[in-house]
Amino acid sequence: MHDRILIVGGGIGGVATALACARKGIAVRVLERAPVIAEVGAGLQVGPNAWRALTSLGVIGRLERSAVLPRRAVMLDVTTGEEITSLDFGPGFVSRYGAPYAVMHRGDLLTALIEECKATGLVTLEPAKEVVDLTQTAAAATVRCADGSTHRAAAVVGADGLRSTVRRFLLGEEAPLVSRYVVYRGTIPRPAHAEDAVMLWVGDKIHYIQYPVRGGQVLNQVASFASDRGDPGADDWGTPEELAERFAGVCEYVRDGMRSLDTAKRWLLHDRRPAAGWAQGRVVLLGDAAHPMQQYLAQGACQALEDAVALGEAVAASPDDLPGALQKFEAVRYPRAAAVQQVTRYFGEICHLGGVPGTLRNHVLGARTATDYGHVDWLYRAHSDDAVPALPQLPAHLNLYPHELAREIR
Ligand SMILES: Cc1cc2nc3c(=O)[nH]c(=O)nc-3n(C[C@H](O)[C@H](O)[C@H](O)COP(=O)(O)OP(=O)(O)OC[C@H]3O[C@@H](n4cnc5c(N)ncnc54)[C@H](O)[C@@H]3O)c2cc1C
Repeated sequence: MHDRILIVGGGIGGVATALACARKGIAVRVLERAPVIAEVGAGLQVGPNAWRALTSLGVIGRLERSAVLPRRAVMLDVTTGEEITSLDFGPGFVSRYGAPYAVMHRGDLLTALIEECKATGLVTLEPAKEVVDLTQTAAAATVRCADGSTHRAAAVVGADGLRSTVRRFLLGEEAPLVSRYVVYRGTIPRPAHAEDAVMLWVGDKIHYIQYPVRGGQVLNQVASFASDRGDPGADDWGTPEELAERFAGVCEYVRDGMRSLDTAKRWLLHDRRPAAGWAQGRVVLLGDAAHPMQQYLAQGACQALEDAVALGEAVAASPDDLPGALQKFEAVRYPRAAAVQQVTRYFGEICHLGGVPGTLRNHVLGARTATDYGHVDWLYRAHSDDAVPALPQLPAHLNLYPHELAREIR
């Protein structure tokens, strides 16, 4: 069997890439190791950069009933409950970025992408196919699956997430970096008093998020804190008891919401340092396989969606030179994704300040207005392929990776 494009991984990045290629008339096969192609039951923030990508993929129509367009994002002090600053998502925001800010359920997004893929008639989705081996020659790339089947293609796309098998073949065995922060998630029916906003409460090494999903019927919640007990992933690390202790002094609103967190499952947070080399011969990485990032800017999936559109365009522009197309894709996407990977760490540090630095954060951010978009222009604005995005200047001495732990922890 010889495919034109073979995608390893049926997450948001892989399925969006399949759709991007199909929109250009290119047939694609997606191999997903899970028995069913599905997303975890949690919310997703979709910035205007990713909404534009979804628009160009033609899936907005399928999201209209489930996606919520919040009025604003608000940062509040987790102890006092007082508002620190906000970002207005009103008409000025929408016209500046050519798209709204949206929040949605991951499952709703993946379903919309899958439905559109099916409608093209050009995408074959194959669950229960775990890729375990990869080889390539000048003419083709071949993957082997755990069930013994092999698939040959003119190009292979590794969209297989944080612990990407395809990445291992391109860039070697480096474990992802483990953060000391643990996450608990949960959803609750939306109370009448909940604001139609992305709410972020911040404080000393903790944060809490709430926003509506599923047409506004449900609130998605995330609580996170830095555990200092033992090693991330150990039984005594980041436990529900520690969650209760660390959030003991929070404001009443957060305390109320936390009662409905699902404490049966905790999430470890990972990322990697930016590393080039995503495109090698007929194989390329994208999404978390290429540039996993911490979640503080809510951009991991958004960057995967930008990747999808860029890859579809690169492949369609050079159908007779796929290795060249993959190189061009990396040249366009690497500087952008690397900047987001780094700045998201920086923003996480700001959120988690306590004591005097936390008071200073509140004071400095409190001075900005809700329509001051200066800090987010670099992230949300459209960049043409040949323009180098204007990146925020980080102090040269800033150590962005102060607490990293490079160990494989599941
Ligand atoms: C707490 C938290 C909150 C977040 N919030 C946001 C947010 O609000 N907005 C946002 O944009 N991002 C957010 N993210 C990031 C986002 O979830 C990820 O960046 C995104 O899901 C990555 O998509 P992906 O398709 O690249 O990888 P994945 O979603 O990991 O998909 C990879 C797929 O590949 C499959 N696979 C793996 N190995 C193989 C193999 N060998 N063979 C075949 N298939 C394989 C997997 O089963 C999986 O289905 C958040 C992350 C976390 C942890």
